[in-house]
Amino acid sequence: MKVWVDKSKCIGCGVCTALCPEGFEIGEDGKSQVKNPNANCNWKEIASNCPVGAIQIEED
Ligand code: SF4
Repeated sequence: MKVWVDKSKCIGCGVCTALCPEGFEIGEDGKSQVKNPNANCNWKEIASNCPVGAIQIEED
């Protein structure tokens, strides 16, 4: 599974970082990025909570 943030969509709201601080961080550009793809996050649930659908998941 691959997970990444589409920065062109992200509005930096912080929902994903609040739900899984081990997995996401807000970068210097004020937008979220995946910090640790191996973190024990519920990636799909977090993606469904992103208000702009910026969290992308690709199954292997
Ligand atoms: S929840 Fe979505 S819009 Fe908000 S910071 Fe995370 S990726 Fe960006």
